[in-house]
Amino acid sequence: MTQVSSPDAALDVLGRVFGYEAFRGDQAEIIRHVIGGGDALVLMPTGGGKSLCYQVPALVRAGTGVVVSPLIALMQDQVDALAANGVRAEFLNSTQSLDERRRVEAALLAGEVDLLYLAPERLAVESTVALLDRAPIALFAIDEAHCVAQWGHDFRPDYLRLSMLHERWPSVPRIALTATATPQTHAEIAHRLQLEDARHFVASFDRPNIQYRIVPKEQPHKQLLELIRTEHPGAAGIVYCLSRASVEKTAELLVSNGVPALPYHAGLPAEVRAANQARFLREDGLVMVATIAFGMGIDKPDVRFVAHLDLPKSVEGYYQETGRAGRDGLPSTAWLAYGLQDVVQQRRMIDQSEGDLAHRRRLSSHLDAMLALCETAGCRRVQLLAYFGQPSSPCGNCDTCLSPPETWDGTVPAQKLLSTIVRLKRERNQTFGAGHIIDILRGKQTPRAQQNGHEALATWGIGADLSDQQWRGVVRQLLAQGLLATQGDYGILTLTDASAQVLSGDRSVSLRTEPERVTRQASKTKAAAVDLEPAQRELFEALRSWRAAQAREQGVPAYVVFGDATLRAIATARPSTLGELAGISGVGQKKLDTYGEQVLAIVGGGTPARGPAVSSFEPSAQELADQEEPPFFFDEEPPPEDWR
Ligand code: ADP
Ligand code: ZN
Repeated sequence: MTQVSSPDAALDVLGRVFGYEAFRGDQAEIIRHVIGGGDALVLMPTGGGKSLCYQVPALVRAGTGVVVSPLIALMQDQVDALAANGVRAEFLNSTQSLDERRRVEAALLAGEVDLLYLAPERLAVESTVALLDRAPIALFAIDEAHCVAQWGHDFRPDYLRLSMLHERWPSVPRIALTATATPQTHAEIAHRLQLEDARHFVASFDRPNIQYRIVPKEQPHKQLLELIRTEHPGAAGIVYCLSRASVEKTAELLVSNGVPALPYHAGLPAEVRAANQARFLREDGLVMVATIAFGMGIDKPDVRFVAHLDLPKSVEGYYQETGRAGRDGLPSTAWLAYGLQDVVQQRRMIDQSEGDLAHRRRLSSHLDAMLALCETAGCRRVQLLAYFGQPSSPCGNCDTCLSPPETWDGTVPAQKLLSTIVRLKRERNQTFGAGHIIDILRGKQTPRAQQNGHEALATWGIGADLSDQQWRGVVRQLLAQGLLATQGDYGILTLTDASAQVLSGDRSVSLRTEPERVTRQASKTKAAAVDLEPAQRELFEALRSWRAAQAREQGVPAYVVFGDATLRAIATARPSTLGELAGISGVGQKKLDTYGEQVLAIVGGGTPARGPAVSSFEPSAQELADQEEPPFFFDEEPPPEDWR
């Protein structure tokens, strides 16, 4: 396909194919640069609109846009979403039959493919390279480019070979894209993909529609249920847990409490994982309970909350995972419950991890940054963005902004605690975890205290003025500030070099009070329907159920038909002609042709003609066969049981 590139060609494609009126942020500049043949490295948060940055140039430039993506399991959905807009997209991967692959190859050589999706492993195969040599290539897009970063959290060795694209096709522009953006990762991507001379586009990493909240972990399952019931009833969400066992347990708990939920972790059979992922994408209002094996590349735009029941290992990981909420720009929640045992568990995992000292140090500094985020008394968003090297001011939409914690002078309690640890060691040669140390401070008679005669310690009962919970907060914060350390499987508390300064009174300790609980106004309907008049809401719901039926019939995710934002706009504008409908954001030519009449019929109050109703929500056997497990997992073995 040869198309003449004019200044308006990109804008024309945007409107005609995708149904959008204007580019967002850097999109216009990135697209202009790539259409002109330039290389680009694009750092943009999830939901920022990265896909259009390569899809539009691929449609404007002559030849096929080749997209390198690590996510075989999602290629079908990506291609379906493009096909729904009339784009000729294909993929080549191991899930296909030989015939199917031949068909795609022939289409490619005939110039009938606008976008071709490939996994990086496939580019390592000489026959693929030879095939691409025979087809005109518009550009190479390297999606999820942070997979090339060796010390990042998603490293994929096959990405290292992608530097060969430049050598093999020096005149074809390359655009690498990622939502991960610490300055180190940024530099590593540029270096490894030989994109030092490319233009770098770094967008703001802020996700203003996500409300960040971090709460002390008390009864995590109860807290989670309350979050879902009061703030996000009936909404789609993701709950992250560290271990497979807690994934299973949490999913069961949700289901038994009337919240539709599915488990996902690397220990499940591939077909169960694929089926659960397909249901999460296709059905409305499911909660996925998962380890971090789940989520990369999940395009579902209406995930309303991401909850963490365990502490993530790094701020980068946390930001990636929470970023899966609210891609459609509507209000969403990122909620994390963390407690003392999380810190102990993570430290232990670092101590036991393979790799050299430098590697363990790196893991440790990632954890420290995560803890600092949890214990900050300042704005969460300011701290998050600062981590990505982007200065900002307090956001007004995180728990610490909405209910600022007070800080208090915790020097004396810190001294009491540290001194108890020192005395036990010096006088008795004993060490204990936080639970027993707190019991001593509070003067709590327990069998262990009696057996050991701990009433005789000088610090016995000197901390009775603080509650158990307050003391746990003190321990957590001292750990986060590096004034206390834990050791071994039972989370034994020990001093650090800095502890001595506190004991000697040379250093004071500032602590934050446990914050007031922040909850969003309970909403009776899904967030997307918020602010709609009753009649608009009714229409919105009618459109949603029509969309659900369409998606089921076609075996595609609902958002491939239309996104919530587009349905909202239709419900508000009530178009009565195809021309009016075409003016709505997200309605391109192909969707207008396919669905226009049906949508107008619903707006007009009628019921559109429909295919046969599909009785089951389960994906068909064929759909299951189409899914392939991602070839990699970063999963955790279940950590040993609680230490307390
Ligand atoms: P990313 O890949 O950066 O996470 P996507 O490319 O999936 O983000 O885009 C996020 C959402 O924003 C999608 O629903 C997409 O269609 C929409 N979008 C992107 N660019 C525009 C635009 N210029 N106008 C309107 N909607 C857009
Ligand atoms: Zn804030």
